[in-house]
Amino acid sequence: MTTTLITGANKGLGFETARQLIAAGHTVYVGSRDEGNAQQAAEALGPNARPLLIDITDEASVQAAAESVGKAGDGLDVLINNAGIAGGSIAPIDTTGDSLARLLDTNTVGAVRVTHAFLPLLLRSKRGLVVNVSSGLGSIGWATDPSRLESQLVLLNYAASKAALNMLTVQYAKAFPQLRINVVDPGYTATDLNGHRGTQTVEEGVVAIVRAATLPEGDDAPTGTFTNADGPVPW
Ligand code: NAP
Repeated sequence: MTTTLITGANKGLGFETARQLIAAGHTVYVGSRDEGNAQQAAEALGPNARPLLIDITDEASVQAAAESVGKAGDGLDVLINNAGIAGGSIAPIDTTGDSLARLLDTNTVGAVRVTHAFLPLLLRSKRGLVVNVSSGLGSIGWATDPSRLESQLVLLNYAASKAALNMLTVQYAKAFPQLRINVVDPGYTATDLNGHRGTQTVEEGVVAIVRAATLPEGDDAPTGTFTNADGPVPW
């Protein structure tokens, strides 16, 4: 049995990832910062879904979630750091340290809180995988490539929070070569995050997430990579 935790799985890309991984045979902890939403999503996903209360900005909540997964006794094989916020569209002139700190606390520090708490379980797995859900907006390569839409957008906080998540992925991958730790860009997908303006469906948006969460066994499985549905994304 493969046991998987997805943060922010009560809706959007996280929920669709849970649905597809359960169909692929995983038992999925459906992470949500709201108990009712976790319950509701897990019920909708069926018997192989387990609700898990986890607010990734709250160290005590993350620790309690790790304890509860540890006590359940099935370990953890796959961690998907999916929970994230857009932070609204703050003009560059109005961007403050506090507004950046808020984005980082969820999108970047949140992933570290969760990874830190669940690493002991992942390291005991035969096949520990971590998938960090980043964004093409976190690609410095695309932000500086005039042929890419990302180079036209100015989103200081969100883009910086995802670029930092990308670097954390590379550093974690070097630190834990026994795991497979990758970062993915779902692409612009219609979810609450963007008022459903995204051009992809959630089914299209989770392709890279699901691929990184179901890597084939073997030492040559990639680690420290940044991909989207089409393949490698420039850092
Ligand atoms: P979404 O529908 O808004 O879902 C975001 C999820 O994260 C929700 O479950 C939300 O919980 C959860 N969350 C936010 N803060 C949290 C916290 N402190 N603790 C625990 N959970 C928290 O957005 P989405 O589009 O599916 O986004 C999923 C990931 O994909 C994000 O990391 C996002 O940056 C990334 N992404 C999305 C797109 C896109 O176009 N949609 C593109 C690139 C990357 P609540 O329901 O309680 O708010």
